[in-house]
Amino acid sequence: MLNIGCHLSVSKGFEAMGKQAIELGGNTFQFFTRNPRGGKAKEIDTEDVNKLLVLMKNNNFAKILAHAPYTLNPCSANERTKEFAFEVMRDDLAKMELLPNNMYNFHPGSHVGQGVEKGIELICDLLNKVLTEDMTTTVLLETMAGKGSEIGRTFEELRAIIDGVNLSGKLGVCLDTCHVFDGGYDIKDNLEAVLEEFDRVIGLDRLRALHLNDSKNPLGSHKDRHEKIGEGNIGLEAFERIVTNPLLGKLPCYLETPNELDGYAREIALLKKMAE
Ligand code: FE
Ligand code: FE
Ligand code: ZN
Repeated sequence: MLNIGCHLSVSKGFEAMGKQAIELGGNTFQFFTRNPRGGKAKEIDTEDVNKLLVLMKNNNFAKILAHAPYTLNPCSANERTKEFAFEVMRDDLAKMELLPNNMYNFHPGSHVGQGVEKGIELICDLLNKVLTEDMTTTVLLETMAGKGSEIGRTFEELRAIIDGVNLSGKLGVCLDTCHVFDGGYDIKDNLEAVLEEFDRVIGLDRLRALHLNDSKNPLGSHKDRHEKIGEGNIGLEAFERIVTNPLLGKLPCYLETPNELDGYAREIALLKKMAE
């Protein structure tokens, strides 16, 4: 059975997201830890979180995925922005321990002209400050499209981040199908070769989650525009190969397609049927 869900709004609370995920036919979900453009996080209602944990247990949920705000940029040239990245991630990871053994995903960052090497160094600095031995959360580096000066477009860059982190056992990778395709990895016609390369450079044991998104743009466009499943340049047949792949089909999958809830329900049903 495919473990799948979609991105949900945290505004109604944690248990509400769990119930919504089930209504949509899923058994997991993704949510922003705070406004995606930044800002202060709401105080967490521990009773609500505990209700979600019970619901997850009773309904065989896969791990859920928290997503850091887009504005988090550990490799900014601006001191205040770097400080914000540190404060947000430290605070988010502390809160994630109320939801033990789940996952936290972030965009590695944009080096804004400082160069890839310097960018990677700053990302490692942040991770070396916020990761702790006793945390139960796995922190995921998201594969990026390579828009602007984004780091994480190549598997080599992600490997370099992992290599620079002391507690690298706490790290994994979230593969975003739109982003890798946009980054130039041909998961449409050459999925096996891309996975072999991922294994050679990073190691497939690091791959912990999938963002399932079709792409509005062709291979290697570096644009990062998500499309509904089957309506973009990746296409339905490629998604069928992804969800039926013995390794990928076991990973928790999160949709971030341009949809309302009914559209998400249709895509969840479609992908689950494909994976049968
Ligand atoms: Fe993302
Ligand atoms: Fe994504
Ligand atoms: Zn994206």
